[in-house]
Amino acid sequence: MASTRFLEDLDAHSYADYTSTGQGLVLIPTGATEQHGPHMPLGVDAMLSRAISAAAAEDLDALVAPVFAYGYKSQPRSGGGNHRTGTTSLSAQALIAQTKDVVLELFRHGIRRVVVVNGHFENYQFLYEGLDLAVREARAGGLDDSRAMLLSYWDFVDDATLEAVFPDGFLGWDIEHGGVLETSLMLHLHPEKVDMSRAPDHPPAELTAYDVFPEDPARTPGSGCLSSPAGATAERGELLLSTVRSGIVRAVTSEFGK
Ligand code: ZN
Ligand code: MN
Repeated sequence: MASTRFLEDLDAHSYADYTSTGQGLVLIPTGATEQHGPHMPLGVDAMLSRAISAAAAEDLDALVAPVFAYGYKSQPRSGGGNHRTGTTSLSAQALIAQTKDVVLELFRHGIRRVVVVNGHFENYQFLYEGLDLAVREARAGGLDDSRAMLLSYWDFVDDATLEAVFPDGFLGWDIEHGGVLETSLMLHLHPEKVDMSRAPDHPPAELTAYDVFPEDPARTPGSGCLSSPAGATAERGELLLSTVRSGIVRAVTSEFGK
């Protein structure tokens, strides 16, 4: 195969050679355009899912599709809320349709195994719907061996890694927006895009057990982070990446073979 794993960098003829083996595997990273506090850029979720996909693709001999740069609406209890400037989201219908369309195109090319690697909490159910519709439609059309997987990368962080990354105790994935997890991964993968001198340090957001419409911006910290990134380090990011990478590779290998 050509030297790149990124589909957008590959010429169509080399890609056709890859798909013609019948053994092709494509990872689709999905993210969001969403505020991540004063210390990190809007593209964090997309950058992290793309980098994690690229790392896993090395071990899986897979290709990485162009990242989904927009995601479903940011919610106050997981991403700070969709009212914030910079956050630029899709409707559920748009994300479902985009997922279904792209996966059906990969199946048309001859790819039979697709993995969607999610990097934005709010996307999950709509990616699920798009994948379910695509696999049903492909199979109804005669591509009976089409298969897909869906995962969110943080679900592969094991207990030992959690203890190492959060020595003072882990407070839950819902408030890890712009916090230690994402900031550590960014410090390892894209340090030039993080400005720790601007990182906020405040107590974790106190979230209600419900949502309100329209959203009241006073319900979440003004920084845009749901917890403090103060404990983030590149070393913790390196550990997170290696745990997530090996966990994803194990899961994909066990479902799809090598
Ligand atoms: Zn994020
Ligand atoms: Mn997000």
